[in-house]
Amino acid sequence: MKENKLKFNSIVIHGGQAPDKAYGAVMPPIYQTSTYAQKSPGEHLGYAYSRSANPTRSALEKSLASIENGEYGLAFASGLAAIDAVLKLLNPGDEVIATNDLYGGSYRLFNRIFEKYGLVFHYVDMQNANTIETLITLKTKLIWLETPTNPMMNIIDIAAVAAMTKKHHLLLAVDNTFASPYLQQPLNLGADIVMHSATKYLGGHSDVVLGALVVNDIDLADKLYFIQNASGAVSGPMDSFLVLRGIKTLHVRMQRHCENGSIIAHYLAEHPKVEKVYWPGFENHPNYSIAKKQMKAFGGMISFIPKGSTYTDAKRIVENLNVFTLAESLGGVESLVGHPASMTHASIPKEEREKVGVVDALIRLSVGIEDVSDLIADLEQALK
Ligand SMILES: *Cc1c(COP(=O)(O)O)cnc(C)c1O
Repeated sequence: MKENKLKFNSIVIHGGQAPDKAYGAVMPPIYQTSTYAQKSPGEHLGYAYSRSANPTRSALEKSLASIENGEYGLAFASGLAAIDAVLKLLNPGDEVIATNDLYGGSYRLFNRIFEKYGLVFHYVDMQNANTIETLITLKTKLIWLETPTNPMMNIIDIAAVAAMTKKHHLLLAVDNTFASPYLQQPLNLGADIVMHSATKYLGGHSDVVLGALVVNDIDLADKLYFIQNASGAVSGPMDSFLVLRGIKTLHVRMQRHCENGSIIAHYLAEHPKVEKVYWPGFENHPNYSIAKKQMKAFGGMISFIPKGSTYTDAKRIVENLNVFTLAESLGGVESLVGHPASMTHASIPKEEREKVGVVDALIRLSVGIEDVSDLIADLEQALK
């Protein structure tokens, strides 16, 4: 449902969110039910069984569509369940071209599950859209793109890739988890499918695992809905409610994530104990101009390599941080630190991950919305 009249900061609160039909509840109730009473066989109020549809999930799906400026939203049990549904659009022998520094779980799903069923995956540096084109064959069906990439913070020009996929009649799916729709809206740039791990910025409070897809095309929406219902990896009512609540503050959280992220990225870049910082807001970032063009700001995700550049150097720092919690995941109000090589990207073979820069010394920060002076003080003592 398009809410063309409202601005983004209002859409996150009102998008698709009419008061509940039963009693006018302003917040969508948690319809914790599996089934619904029918007057006579097949005669019901629009809901028959909660795998097929549930009112709390429907409210979330409308909200998801509106914040991505799309027509149709679908909510899944996790981000990976959402990706799994997209891949089930394909048939054995079909080929997929994906970003080479992909989220580790996506890589594992592609190579360890879907390759078994006959899908063929190619991984490529997508910073130049022309390099993708050289891999296209008659069997190519889907381009899978992540930007900013995780954890190297490379930026891919979504509009340039979309122009190329349109020319070849391919589907373009964008994993928009790192940016969130506050920073970029891939459907507006020509993508066919937007995917989210709502576990991260959309939920925003590290208290729920959930995935999302948003599309504009009704045939594509119907196919994905069929898969969602047939495979059954739907989000539950309570989890749907938590993400709905998270989305209402997405804009204010993102603004602070970006402000704190910028201050910390610059602090690290000037620090004598830091070797290299990866953050798309630096003017000398190789794709700064694309980031500036397609993103509203540069986000709160930062990777860096400490001086010394060994695993021991990285390990000492992550162990000594106190305000930053050492944990998987990202996008919550609290700051987290991760070690991609042993955590998020452990499922990618060492040579593969080192090729794209995920070395043993790399540290990844998800900058939260605490007082930034406390975050800087924590980094300062850990870097000492
Ligand atoms: C976390 C994440 C996923 C997977 O989502 P889950 O909700 O953990 O299943 C996919 N892509 C990116 C970029 C992620 O960060």
